[in-house]
Amino acid sequence: MEIAIIAHDGKKDEMLVFLNHYIEIFKQEHIQLIATGTTGKRAEEMGLKVHRYLSGPLGGDAQIAARVAEGKTNMVLFFRDPLNAHPHEPDIMMLMRQCDVHNVPLASNPATAELLIQSIALFGE
Ligand code: PGA
Repeated sequence: MEIAIIAHDGKKDEMLVFLNHYIEIFKQEHIQLIATGTTGKRAEEMGLKVHRYLSGPLGGDAQIAARVAEGKTNMVLFFRDPLNAHPHEPDIMMLMRQCDVHNVPLASNPATAELLIQSIALFGE
């Protein structure tokens, strides 16, 4: 099961707290993590195995959107910062749209991400 993790700068600390809280789930053999560049680097620093794509502003969100479109990514945990403007807003919209087009679970904040991850813990894939 491939899970994408992405956090805007203002949300990276919250993402790390979240990953740490559910680290036993994220370390499970059947879960493959992918991430935008900086988010992935931070996750690696805490001991998680992550396939890193480009940083968000350089195209990382677009790369992950492509994986969603190709049916390779099963879940997207995207901690968005709604209080700041982002140069790559079109890519962000594309990623969210692709999740909706392909009916891929998308959490845009930590509360929703918790529900999705807890459902994996309860029901598996
Ligand atoms: P980053 O990208 O993980 O490389 O910071 C996230 C984003 O801004 O979409």
